[in-house]
Amino acid sequence: MQDSLIVKNRINILGCYIDKVNMEQALDTVEKLVQNKQPAPVVTVNAEIIYRAYKDQTLRRIINQAALITPDGIGAVWAGKILGHPFPERVTGIDLLYSVCERAVEKKWKVFLLGANPGIAETAAEKIRADFTGINICGVQDGYFKAEQTPCIIERINDLQPDIVAVGLGSPKQEYWISQYKDQLNASVFIGLGGSFDVIAGVKKRAPAWIIKLNLEWLYRLIKEPSRFKRQLALPLFVWTVFKYRFWHKTNG
Ligand code: UDP
Repeated sequence: MQDSLIVKNRINILGCYIDKVNMEQALDTVEKLVQNKQPAPVVTVNAEIIYRAYKDQTLRRIINQAALITPDGIGAVWAGKILGHPFPERVTGIDLLYSVCERAVEKKWKVFLLGANPGIAETAAEKIRADFTGINICGVQDGYFKAEQTPCIIERINDLQPDIVAVGLGSPKQEYWISQYKDQLNASVFIGLGGSFDVIAGVKKRAPAWIIKLNLEWLYRLIKEPSRFKRQLALPLFVWTVFKYRFWHKTNG
């Protein structure tokens, strides 16, 4: 690989340039992006999506063009360490959303939730309203609409003029969706959040804190959702490729 491992405080993990930020810095960046009023995608990446982007140039380009890219999974954090450029901490999509909600109350930002099965985003919105008194969740939309409904959804979002659109369509669908429609949408920040609405609504459980602390959240998810097995086959390939990358840099750089 000829790419430099670190560019403008972004760390190159297998071709994805991930921001070296902690939660506070990520949140400050989101605030600047809201003030900027230009469509700005935010991507929260884990090992699975980094490995997918390593194989898929279009996805890699979409990720690298995002305004903010945070290390969501322990795999990304581990790779930073192995490659000699550790990240300050994990900045997961769901934690970023909670932090954004806190600031949204303070700054009076409007938030739109898009994604998950019918009814889930509504329940998530109710939970968020209960936890963040005064927050303006201006609208919700489930993630199983037909392509021909998209213009209608865009029109509705544009009428509501949210500052933040939280997009939980799963990866890489949400990254492609944001990339395709952001310029037609009257909103500033688009955050890809995977299955966060399911967790907030209570239909899926996040791993207990002690499992997260042991860096075993990926194993918990695999046990709870065995259907993820095929996707998680990317994890050993990711680890192997990062080691290869590390070795190459050691011997050539
Ligand atoms: N989803 C959606 N529309 C789709 C496919 C998926 O809204 O066409 C939602 C799904 O209901 C779930 C989330 O996207 O809420 C994907 O969750 P997952 O935990 O798999 O996220 P990932 O690990 O891909 O980030």
